[in-house]
Amino acid sequence: MVSSKSNSNNNYDVIVIGGGIVGASIIRELSRYDLKICLIEKEAELSFGVSKSNSGIVHAGFHSPPNTLKGPLCARGNFLYDQLHLELGVPFKRVGELVIIKQSEEIPDLEKFKRWGEECGVPGMKILNESEVHQYEPSLSTDVIGALYAPTAGVVNPYEFVFLLAQNAKKNGAEIKTSEEVISIGDRVAKTTEVITTKDRYNTKYIINAAGLYGDRIANMVGIYNFKIIPRKGEEYLLDKKLKGLVKQVIFPLPSKTSKGTLVIPTLDGTIMVGPSAEDIDDKNDLTTTDEVCWQIFDKAKQMIPAIHHKYLISTFAGNRPVPVKLIKNAKGKYVKDPDGDDDFIIAKTDDVPGFINVAGIQSPGLTAAPAIAEKVISILKDDGVVLKANKYFVSTNPNPKKIREMSDDELDKLIKSEPDYGKIVCRCEMVSEGEIMNAIENGAQTLDGVKFRTRAGMGRCQGGFCSFKTMELLAKGLDISPLEITKRGEGSNILVEDLKKQKEKI
Ligand SMILES: Cc1cc2nc3c(=O)[nH]c(=O)nc-3n(C[C@H](O)[C@H](O)[C@H](O)COP(=O)(O)OP(=O)(O)OC[C@H]3O[C@@H](n4cnc5c(N)ncnc54)[C@H](O)[C@@H]3O)c2cc1C
Repeated sequence: MVSSKSNSNNNYDVIVIGGGIVGASIIRELSRYDLKICLIEKEAELSFGVSKSNSGIVHAGFHSPPNTLKGPLCARGNFLYDQLHLELGVPFKRVGELVIIKQSEEIPDLEKFKRWGEECGVPGMKILNESEVHQYEPSLSTDVIGALYAPTAGVVNPYEFVFLLAQNAKKNGAEIKTSEEVISIGDRVAKTTEVITTKDRYNTKYIINAAGLYGDRIANMVGIYNFKIIPRKGEEYLLDKKLKGLVKQVIFPLPSKTSKGTLVIPTLDGTIMVGPSAEDIDDKNDLTTTDEVCWQIFDKAKQMIPAIHHKYLISTFAGNRPVPVKLIKNAKGKYVKDPDGDDDFIIAKTDDVPGFINVAGIQSPGLTAAPAIAEKVISILKDDGVVLKANKYFVSTNPNPKKIREMSDDELDKLIKSEPDYGKIVCRCEMVSEGEIMNAIENGAQTLDGVKFRTRAGMGRCQGGFCSFKTMELLAKGLDISPLEITKRGEGSNILVEDLKKQKEKI
């Protein structure tokens, strides 16, 4: 039960609501300063919102015009990824992207994107002619006649990125709270605001609303009603590693008004992914995939890369983009869609609500822009008069995670001699050892999906068929809980219904 008063330990300078890529980037950036800070996430683990279900592309930054927030923040975010890769060990690779065309009438569109990119500061873009584009990507359909090439685009494991940011922020003094939902926000008294959650009450000088699909609900709690968030579903289809190397770059068609189109993506882990779709829906929790969309996606992907076939499909998932719809009050005082409203990110303080900063409507390219969004939030705080003294204990790096699949035989032999648990393979498809799983649990994994997203155990061809049971045993041991309490992704997703031991006793 939530107590009626917050205690003095619960006083913060800044509370970030939401532990997706945006909230995690902000809390890590805040941890550079001498501030008492905390991130509150309603799910059992960080990154279980939109940030775990996306295409994992670090876009170059030419898809939006320079007079938007999206355009320059995307280009800047892309630039910051190198540093994050070095400091935190964020798995990231610059693979480049190609926007392909099949008709010469489409060349002006490529020129427009090139101009936008250049104005946003994207380096190295060029328009390729027919022979060049087929040299760059030999598996393209023969009717492709040109492309815009952007070498700085990359691919990343989004969830791993979130965990590494939070791990670093925690090391630098930030508090991270999970399985705790913000349910209301009180009035501002003496320059602090009360935040009430399902577990406790806190006082804070600033609230950062980074609640993704629920950014409107949090804004409503402080009386802001000038936007709502609608979910735009994107289905993604993951193909077998047999297709590894089929494409080198991320392949895009020309984008539409609502989406960048169906892409062919060489993921960081060597698989190929096709998707996403783009469909506005009503239910923010609807993450179903459908046969109909599956066929449409494969059809579109084959038109770009003919060797793609649905027989290679191993897994599907969906994510909902938090699309902002700007609202204005009509003559009757009712909020209606603003006819002049755009769907750009909302990153701003609101003068009527002191101490509250919206970072809402962060749809694509939010994964790319997140590091730059965090910088922007810091500058908003500075402009609002917050004195940002450096945290003298700040350490920018994380310890190197040990990934046995990336080690040479010699390195692995040496490791196993000193830490034998790294020689006990749990996930055979992805080569993940007991040592890596226990390390993930020590670093905060609470659920089967939490282990999977941190280590890849269960992400291979058998999709956890062989390793899930052993991973659950390790979770029970590491968390010192009964196997019955283990969940797939938090409350209500328990895997076992009865203790196996008891079942055996009954037989
Ligand atoms: C299909 C798809 C493909 C995409 N592909 C790309 C791509 O390739 N590149 C790219 O740059 N972008 C991409 N995006 C966009 C990107 O995924 C999002 O912009 C980004 O993940 C948004 O992050 P976020 O932190 O704002 O939201 P989230 O990750 O949803 O984080 C918000 C968090 O707030 C929590 N929360 C909500 N309410 C409360 C509450 N009351 N109390 C406590 N916590 C709360 C939620 O549980 C959630 O974890 C894609 C999106 C989709 C859906």
